Amino acid sequence: MPRLLIISLDGFRHDYLNEHNLPTLNRFRNEGVQATHGMRPTFTTMTFPNHISIATGMYQEDHGVIHNSFYDRLLNKTIGMSSRDDGQWSDPKVEPLWITATKQKVKSAVLFWPACHNEFFGIRPVIYSWLYTDNIPFREKIDNAIGYFRELSVQLVMLYHFEPDKQGHTYGPHSSEVRDVLFRLDSDIEYLLNKVKNELNDDLNIIILSDHGMTNVTKVIRPFFEKYINRSSVESTILSGALFNVMPRNGLTEQVRNNLSNIPNVTAYKLDEMPKRFHYSKPKHRLGEIIALPDVEGHIISAATTNASYDNKGNHGWDNALPSMQAIFIARGPSFNENVQINSLNNVDIYHIACYILKLNPNPYATAGSLVNLTHIFRSVENVTTSNTFIPSSSTTERFTTSMNNACLLCSIRLFPVLLMLFLLSFTF
Ligand SMILES: [Zn+2]
Repeated sequence: MPRLLIISLDGFRHDYLNEHNLPTLNRFRNEGVQATHGMRPTFTTMTFPNHISIATGMYQEDHGVIHNSFYDRLLNKTIGMSSRDDGQWSDPKVEPLWITATKQKVKSAVLFWPACHNEFFGIRPVIYSWLYTDNIPFREKIDNAIGYFRELSVQLVMLYHFEPDKQGHTYGPHSSEVRDVLFRLDSDIEYLLNKVKNELNDDLNIIILSDHGMTNVTKVIRPFFEKYINRSSVESTILSGALFNVMPRNGLTEQVRNNLSNIPNVTAYKLDEMPKRFHYSKPKHRLGEIIALPDVEGHIISAATTNASYDNKGNHGWDNALPSMQAIFIARGPSFNENVQINSLNNVDIYHIACYILKLNPNPYATAGSLVNLTHIFRSVENVTTSNTFIPSSSTTERFTTSMNNACLLCSIRLFPVLLMLFLLSFTF
């Protein structure tokens, strides 16, 4: 029975692996599969959208999560990482890996991965976290993940951890704080590998990846404060940062675009003019009509109407082709070949890698990624499907109960009190 653990380390920039001599991660990548130029995120290179791209094999314009927090004009509400079940998943074509698995009777546990608490088609994985929190140590999550494999015959665990992103934002990617947290993570991975050896007989496929990179913020552009554009010419909902998105008031679209185009080193697009490679223009109910992008990596466009200071030393969100925005991908285990180097891969391929390992029929709408260039990363390539052919399975329509039966099993897991607390807390929001 194949098993797969996917660990996401938020904001782990690809070349941190070369910059720092991290003993365990270096050994891991040299023994297994590594992407020498990293893994390409989807655009915009933000956390929530990329975790959904990794989980669904879809571009942001197709799964609909276009930023960490955004306003949906059809639902009349703001959607963020803690939003639950209010229609943002109404598109039935969107299906995260853990739902594909659950529908096909492969048990999965999803810890702190964005959206893991959301119901899709009325189902959820066996174990999931209710709320995002950065209070739980990585080793505790590792203990629980190994416990689920060992005691609950779970075949898929997806585990999210918030570092090194947090230190990267506060101190910048080349800081000693980032270096320190990388070494802590490295020793946590050593702890994980020892547990896998001792408790799972080394019989576990492990993918360690990240959602995006990190770079220094070198300039903050404030179009309202600097009077390039009138605040009253656009509606209140604005996306800002490495991407600046506004909805002009009636009749002002051209004017707003021209105003933003006047900013040096900034390019302003109407949604339909966005470069196709970004795959970022379809969800018109979630995006404003005009997007402005800084031409220079590290330049931020702020929605501030004052000269207020900007605190983050590091950030991300820029062009997903930039080297600084590339994520990590390293993998090893019984399904993977040893000592394999690939140049790069797209994070939308991960969904298909996982489906292949776990012998799942992929969602036919997960068409952004594939295994076409990746067959040699696997030890055996007998059943690799290089197309997105969908073979209907009788199990795909069955509902998988996640509540009562698993509740008692959960009691043996140390994280249960925390999950219970988060669950109870969630009713107070
Ligand atoms: Zn971040």
